[in-house]
Amino acid sequence: MAECGTLYLVATPIGNLEDMTFRAIRVLKEADLIAAEDTRGSIKLLNHFDIHTPMTSYHEYNKVAKAKSLVEKMLAGQTIACVTDAGTPGISDPGEVLVQMALEAGIRTVPVPGACAAVNALISSGQPTRRFCFEAFLPPEKKERDAVLEELKEETRTIVLYEAPHRLERTLQILLETLGDRSISLCRELTKKHEEIRKTTIAAALSACRETEPRGEYVLVIEGRDRRELIASRQEAVRSELTLEEHMRRYEESGMDRKEAMKAVAKDRGLTKREVYSLLLQSGSDSEE
Ligand code: SAM
Repeated sequence: MAECGTLYLVATPIGNLEDMTFRAIRVLKEADLIAAEDTRGSIKLLNHFDIHTPMTSYHEYNKVAKAKSLVEKMLAGQTIACVTDAGTPGISDPGEVLVQMALEAGIRTVPVPGACAAVNALISSGQPTRRFCFEAFLPPEKKERDAVLEELKEETRTIVLYEAPHRLERTLQILLETLGDRSISLCRELTKKHEEIRKTTIAAALSACRETEPRGEYVLVIEGRDRRELIASRQEAVRSELTLEEHMRRYEESGMDRKEAMKAVAKDRGLTKREVYSLLLQSGSDSEE
């Protein structure tokens, strides 16, 4: 039986061809087959680097059926390199399904790192980089988009989004309405001639967008919500929703003893345990120990 092949996930440039790595060129040259999202687009890249490996298309609309046949080829010993239009396969691009099916079949998957718009936008955005979340494109369908935005409202990490120029204005409007005005970096045309990193606010970005029609590819890097402000607003919500006694009862009914419930209530309401205790005493719902 032939030895099992390997699946290489090969990152390609997001604009500047100089970002192609030596390793990416070698892996693409040595592979038996290249699975490309857009064969017509990738041929230009392959020609530029003198790569003559045969190509087959692997995209959003054939990803399941095609992944099955690619897995069979790898099981028969072929080495396959997956590339997308630009950047890193699997990041808002096909790749995920093929990787899952390859691993299930016992095939080795190997990343060949390189450009990725999200990471390069983040590092040049001037927004905090230690903790971040990547949401890719906001869903086009309203119900799904609202659900994502509801989660993003409470997100304290830096938020990274992809967006197309013709939807930028609408997206900024939605972000302003749901997240409020806050710092945003618009990272445009990364690694290309008209590369631009603009750190501004959502409201200012929206008015700029209304004045000049956006062009090119964008990554939006948005400041996360202030953690202390989030905790304070949660405490406020609890305070306005429940009386102290109701709040205590909620914890006690969940299995906490009186002392544990007091500690939890104190934390939620931004009080000390002693303050909770004396308020309960005043209201007559607790007796002196
Ligand atoms: N797999 C790619 C990657 O690793 O970045 C992302 C593919 S996704 C289909 C395409 C989106 O990525 C674009 O709509 C844009 O939001 C972002 N993007 C890709 N290239 C970019 C660039 N040079 N500058 C800014 N954003 C870019």
